[in-house]
Amino acid sequence: MWGVVMNWYQLSETEVTKSAATNKEKGLSQKEVEKRLKSYGANKLDQGKPPSALFVFLGQFKDFMVLILLAATFISGILGEYIDALTIMIIILLNGILGFVQERKAEKSLEALKELSAPQMNVLRDGEWKKVLSSQIVPGDIIKVSSGDRIGADLRLIETSGLRIEESSLTGESVPVHKHEHPLTSGQIEIGDQLNMAFMGTLVTQGSGVGIVIATGMHTEMGKIAHLLQSTTTLVTPLQRKLEQLGKILITVALVLTALVVLTGVVQGHDLYTMVLAGVSLAVAAIPEGLPAIVTVALALGVQRMIKRKAIVRKLPAVETLGCASVICSDKTGTLTQNKMTVTHIWTGGKQWKVSGGGYEPKGVFSLDGKSFDPSKNRNLQQLLSYGWLCNNANIQEKTSKQGMLRKSVTEYVMDGDPTEGALVVSAMKAGYTKQSLDQYFTRVKEFPFDSARKMMSVVVKDRQGRSYIITKGAPDVILSQCMNITYGGHEQALSSDRKAEVEAVVDHLASQALRTIAIAYRPLGARETCTQAFEAERNLTFIGLQGMIDPPRPEVKDAISECRQAGIKTVMITGDHKRTAAAIATQLGILPKGGKVLDGQTLSRWSVAELEEVVDDVYVYARVSPEHKLKIVKALQAKGHIVAMTGDGVNDAPAIKAANIGIAMGITGTDVAKEASSLILSDDNFSTIKAAIKEGRNIYENIRKFIRYMLASNVGEILVMLFAMMLGMPLPLVAIQILWINLVTDGLPAMALGMDQAEGDVMKREPRSPDEGVFARGLTWKIISRGFMIGAVTLAVFWLTLQAHPDELIRAQTVAFVTLVMAQLIHVFDCRSEYSVYHRNPFENRYLVVAVLISTLLMLAVIYYPPLQTIFHTVALDGREWLLVLGMASIPTVVLGGFQLFKRK
Ligand code: ATP
Repeated sequence: MWGVVMNWYQLSETEVTKSAATNKEKGLSQKEVEKRLKSYGANKLDQGKPPSALFVFLGQFKDFMVLILLAATFISGILGEYIDALTIMIIILLNGILGFVQERKAEKSLEALKELSAPQMNVLRDGEWKKVLSSQIVPGDIIKVSSGDRIGADLRLIETSGLRIEESSLTGESVPVHKHEHPLTSGQIEIGDQLNMAFMGTLVTQGSGVGIVIATGMHTEMGKIAHLLQSTTTLVTPLQRKLEQLGKILITVALVLTALVVLTGVVQGHDLYTMVLAGVSLAVAAIPEGLPAIVTVALALGVQRMIKRKAIVRKLPAVETLGCASVICSDKTGTLTQNKMTVTHIWTGGKQWKVSGGGYEPKGVFSLDGKSFDPSKNRNLQQLLSYGWLCNNANIQEKTSKQGMLRKSVTEYVMDGDPTEGALVVSAMKAGYTKQSLDQYFTRVKEFPFDSARKMMSVVVKDRQGRSYIITKGAPDVILSQCMNITYGGHEQALSSDRKAEVEAVVDHLASQALRTIAIAYRPLGARETCTQAFEAERNLTFIGLQGMIDPPRPEVKDAISECRQAGIKTVMITGDHKRTAAAIATQLGILPKGGKVLDGQTLSRWSVAELEEVVDDVYVYARVSPEHKLKIVKALQAKGHIVAMTGDGVNDAPAIKAANIGIAMGITGTDVAKEASSLILSDDNFSTIKAAIKEGRNIYENIRKFIRYMLASNVGEILVMLFAMMLGMPLPLVAIQILWINLVTDGLPAMALGMDQAEGDVMKREPRSPDEGVFARGLTWKIISRGFMIGAVTLAVFWLTLQAHPDELIRAQTVAFVTLVMAQLIHVFDCRSEYSVYHRNPFENRYLVVAVLISTLLMLAVIYYPPLQTIFHTVALDGREWLLVLGMASIPTVVLGGFQLFKRK
């Protein structure tokens, strides 16, 4: 049936269900899904093929200097230097393989990232609603969509509730379209007019709906125009860009110095061919062509570590920006708190009850003035509890599983839906209500879904006598402003200012105990009254009462906030909740200091960004905010020079997330829109994950600095030893092959291991890095040059000393120089782990580094002691005295410079 072009919009629900061979109540079975996946393929749009492995591999050899080296090797081959030529070839090949492996690794982990943040959809399968990856959706699947979802396939809608969809990606029309589920009778109509259809790639801006998938992948309307879509480009981070520029400068410097070496050598009477080969090898070794690649690897490795800590990076540049964050603006509910709500206090008609019990287990007792109370004895209370469940979409399910060695039966209560609503269901269950008992009396006619700008939700219900009511629940201040009457002492009366003040005092009191308060109100509807818009329904209400619920803070958050403070990062709470509730929780968590300000949404609406800017540094909590206020907060903070991380989950949060320097979306509760706008996703919605990500961000940056320091100091050392030798009229201290070996082994492995180094102890005790700070800031240039100079100097010194002792054994002096250079670098790599000095860290902490250094050392020993390699690498075996000289001299730079740093710090 899918092959036939059908006008799905003309069919009735039954016809669609039949044509799609599906079941509205149960959805498809897993077996059927697998069958359909086989025949229709994954629900994906074709994208351009990635470059082939061969292409990437060959790309490693396109470097200009490598090509020259290959040419030089070819010439030396013709001249009969077969072994030299072959070895150089092998080294170049190994270098290429290393570069290839690094590039692939980086690509793979970025690819894995994409998969992690791939969209999921709410699908009905085997009778249960499940979250399923969009790519696994098949025709016939039943899908639920709600505000903030990016639709993942083409659907024929069969249920809608205030559903509006923005279809600009298909039709170019940016005003959201009102959708419905009724068949259309017209013939051939444009996509934009197919009001009972929802299309892949479009965005739900309001309401919710259920639809049957009628096309997936390239068969969707989006698939038909897929070739018009631009392929996504990988973003280059600012640091990568800076390093590319820097790379060009370094190449020029390296080339000039190498040319100088060759020229001086020739002038001093060295053989032209040897000098050119040594020069080219030196250029290959000294040019940090691998720098951008290693940066990518370090970023990718860091990103993998972040994934382990539940932070998914969507845009690579965010990794760097994370280290600069100076303010984190965090949502309260679910991020700072557990979002596990339990009603503990209830107020109605002038009386206040307490409810015992925790979590979603519907077991607990009502008490009034300290004595247990039977809820069926109070009519107001009954109305409050039952209406709280009627105006509600949450479900509590009892699940029994066998646990432990003894396979003991454990019953758990699982809440499906909004926790605020779950709490209201549980409080009603504690009073003995059941879903069946309510369904017997009331049927729902309509819903006006909750929205965090309105801060209310309403339903229209009909009772058995055919009377209709509107039931509204929401933030007490908002509800009160729409109420004319109140049920009090068993009957209804006008809501006088005294009564209103009484309710407000109760709200205040509950909120000051960190409780979230929900008010419930209602209005009988006139026989002819039909409300199509929320604002028509939610007015002239009768206030029934309040339910106050706790939402405990996440236990780990308090420490995370204090750690952030030590790291110079301010945490700001943003919440839709009441000012008092917000302030109470912020104080508990250590966000709100004495004298810190709490601002509310009303004030924010009145103020301009400039006005907010004046006080923004003193504000720690924003309460009763609407999502659009978040943008103002971001702008005011940025105007003050802050680097802002901002969290969000809803559709309306997207602009603020986009505007923030680091936009963070919630992985569990976040909508697709928020995720798409974000650069970081918290897969556990937890504030502590932001802290962990910032720490990792700082560490990645430090690691990049570490290996830049190591690689460049090594290169400077290599060039200087050659340059000095030539200038002083000495023989060549290193032959071409030795230089290439150092480039491959000594520079390669340990540099990679530095990219995996642990954070230095005080990484979260330093102020955030300024985003304008260059890579070489904080004395890095000096560290590189001084170290390079010293490495060059000690190598030259041992070379000279050995030549003095064995004037006829140039090869011995060269071997000693080679070993000294390698050892000096391998010792230096441990220095690079600390901003301060080598004495500040345990050198064995980074196991990768220890292994890398051991491998490099073993390979070096092989090169100087294994006879066949001796021939290839022009080396001889060293004796004990020579080793003493080598090790003594190679440690001088670390002892001297490390000691100098230690002294300077003291
Ligand atoms: P944040 O996640 O930013 O901390 P929040 O989740 O507390 O904020 P909203 O979800 O916007 O904020 O809720 C704002 C207010 O709306 C709440 O304080 C509560 O009074 C009310 N409210 C929350 N959820 C519902 C709901 N499902 N139905 C009716 N009212 C609700």
